[in-house]
Amino acid sequence: MLWVTFFRKEAVMAATTDRRAARERLVALALQEVDRLIPLDEKVALRGQYMADFEDQADELDRTLVSAFLRERIALSGASEVQVVGRCPHCHSDRVYLERWSSMVDVLTPHGSVPLKKQHASCRACGLAFSPSGARPADADRG
Ligand SMILES: [Zn+2]
Repeated sequence: MLWVTFFRKEAVMAATTDRRAARERLVALALQEVDRLIPLDEKVALRGQYMADFEDQADELDRTLVSAFLRERIALSGASEVQVVGRCPHCHSDRVYLERWSSMVDVLTPHGSVPLKKQHASCRACGLAFSPSGARPADADRG
């Protein structure tokens, strides 16, 4: 599952968020999901009757809520963007620069699909392009 969409850096800046907005979106989503899975109205029948049904609902909740949390947390992460490119992985030159455009890559996690921003860099010495490494959330070593 991989799709790539290109957009300019200005669009990324417009999409940045703050903690209050992220919290409000997550709480609203949690309430919406609880209302959907356990309606307050006693006249509305609860879905499912077997443990497998309840587990399916828990999986739905996990995919919806946890993946939303991951998207919000990534958006809040200052570590998700590389500011210094470093050296070219092809020729080891330091004559490298960060491209103004970036792309989004959908990464499949155990909690559902999460879009990650992928930065691109180029080398003036050899002319090759590469994706700069850095402390991106997806690069965390889980051993
Ligand atoms: Zn190079």
